[in-house]
Amino acid sequence: MRPDDFDDNRSFWAATAPPDTPCAPLRGDIVADVAIVGAGFTGLSTARELLNRRPDLGVVVLEAKTVGNGASGRNGGQLLNWINGIGSDDPVLTRRVWDATLHGIERVLERARNGNVRWSRHGALDLYTDARRAERAHAHAERLNAIGIPVRYVSGAELKALCGAEGVAGAVWDPTAGVLAGVDLLRATKPELLAGGARIYEHTPVTRVHEGETITLDTPHGTVRAKALVLATNGYTHLLGYFRGGVFPLLSHVVAAPMAASAWGGAGSFSDDMDRISYGAHLDGHLVFGGGSNASYAYRYGGRTGGDMGPAADAAVRKKLGHYFPGAAAPDHTWSGVLGITLSRRPSIGRRGNVYWGLGYSGHGVTLANLAGEILADLYVGEGAQWADLPIVDAAFGWIPPDPFRWVGYHAYTALTGRSPRRG
Ligand SMILES: Cc1cc2nc3c(=O)[nH]c(=O)nc-3n(C[C@H](O)[C@H](O)[C@H](O)COP(=O)(O)OP(=O)(O)OC[C@H]3O[C@@H](n4cnc5c(N)ncnc54)[C@H](O)[C@@H]3O)c2cc1C
Repeated sequence: MRPDDFDDNRSFWAATAPPDTPCAPLRGDIVADVAIVGAGFTGLSTARELLNRRPDLGVVVLEAKTVGNGASGRNGGQLLNWINGIGSDDPVLTRRVWDATLHGIERVLERARNGNVRWSRHGALDLYTDARRAERAHAHAERLNAIGIPVRYVSGAELKALCGAEGVAGAVWDPTAGVLAGVDLLRATKPELLAGGARIYEHTPVTRVHEGETITLDTPHGTVRAKALVLATNGYTHLLGYFRGGVFPLLSHVVAAPMAASAWGGAGSFSDDMDRISYGAHLDGHLVFGGGSNASYAYRYGGRTGGDMGPAADAAVRKKLGHYFPGAAAPDHTWSGVLGITLSRRPSIGRRGNVYWGLGYSGHGVTLANLAGEILADLYVGEGAQWADLPIVDAAFGWIPPDPFRWVGYHAYTALTGRSPRRG
C-alpha cells in the first residue's frame, strides 16, 4: 500500500453533496464482533443490514479516507437492473436476477426518498449503434416481456423524435432504473448507523490483516480485534493482499457538464453498445458522462489506484461528450474512480470462514453493492439460503495473471477491442 493509493474524491457528487463532518480516526486498540473495511455502498449497506438483524452486534467500519470516497461516490450514478457477467439464456435465472436487482433498486430509492438525497427515476436506455444489433435487442426485449419484465424497445426514429439522438439504430428502455447521487445516500446513512451503535473511523486505512479465530486489523494508530471481517474494498482489495488474481483495479474517467432538464431526453440515463462503453446520466442540472474510448480507462502497472487519470483521458471523454451531445456546455467537474473488474465481469458476494466479501461489480455496482449488504448480513446470521440461487453468491473469480503479463495483456486486448461493439 502506498500513501497515494487513496486520493480525494473530486467528483461532481462529492463537490455538491450536503456537508459532512468526518468521524475521528481510530486511536488505540478496540474489539468488535464485525469489522468492515471500506465505507462505500457495500460497507455501509452491510453495517446497516447487520444492525437491522442484530441490533446488539458490535459493528466497526474502517475507512481509509472518508465515507463515499471510493467508486460509490464517483460513479456515473446509474441505478440499474441486471448483474454483469450473467447471460440471459435461462428464463428462470433471468427472472431471478431481475427480481433481485429490482428489489435492490426499490430499497435504495426507499432510503433516498427518506433522506437528503438527490435521485430520479426515469428509466435507462441501452443504445444500439447498428441495425442488426438493434434488431437482436428488439427480439430480446420481446423475450423479456414474455416473462413479465417490462422493458420496451424504442426504434431509432422514435428516439430521434423524442430527444434528437443521432446515429442510434434502436434502444431498449428499462423504465424501473434510476439515477442516484451516491455521496448523498452514504452521508445520509452515516448518522443512522452511528445512532444504531456502529462505530465508524474515517482517515483510518487498514494496513494489514492477521487472520485467525479472532482477526486483527492493523491501522496507523490502533488495532481492531474482531470475530469477523467484511472486505468492502472493491477495486482496492488487492492492496490488502486479497483476491489479487481475481479483482483488478481499472481507472475510469468521468466529467459533469451543466445541462438543463429541457435539453435532455426522457430517460434518466443511457449507455451504448461499444466495447469501451460510453454512459451518461442526468441529475441536478448536470449530465454526468464517462467512458467511450481506450483513453478514458486505465490499468496502471502494479495495480495503483490513486490519482487522476490526467489530461489525455479528460480530453478523450470531452471529445466523446461532444460527439453524443454537440451542444453540451463545457464540463465543470472532472474526476477519475477505480472499478473492481473480474475476468467474467461477474461479482462475488460470499464468505470463507469468518472472512466475508462483496467485490468485483465490474462497473455495475450501484444497485448490487447496496444489495450486497442484505446478502452478507443474511449469510452472517445463517439465512443465506434465500440467495443461494444467485450465481454470484460464494462465486469463485476467474484468474487474471499478475504483472507484467496483466499489463501487457490489458494493453493488447484493449488495442484490439477498443472501438468494437460488445459481443452479445
Ligand atoms: C467512474 C465510475 C463510474 C461508475 N458508474 C457506475 C454506474 O453508473 N452504475 C453502476 O451500477 N455502477 C457504476 N460504477 C461502479 C460502482 O460505483 C461500484 O461498483 C460500487 O460503488 C462499489 O461500491 P463498494 O462499496 O464495493 O466500493 P467503493 O465505493 O470503492 O468503496 C470501497 C471503500 O473502501 C475503502 N478502502 C479500500 N481499501 C481500504 C483499506 N485498506 N482500509 C480502509 N479503507 C479502505 C476505499 O477508500 C473506499 O471508500 C462506477 C464506478 C466508477 C469508478
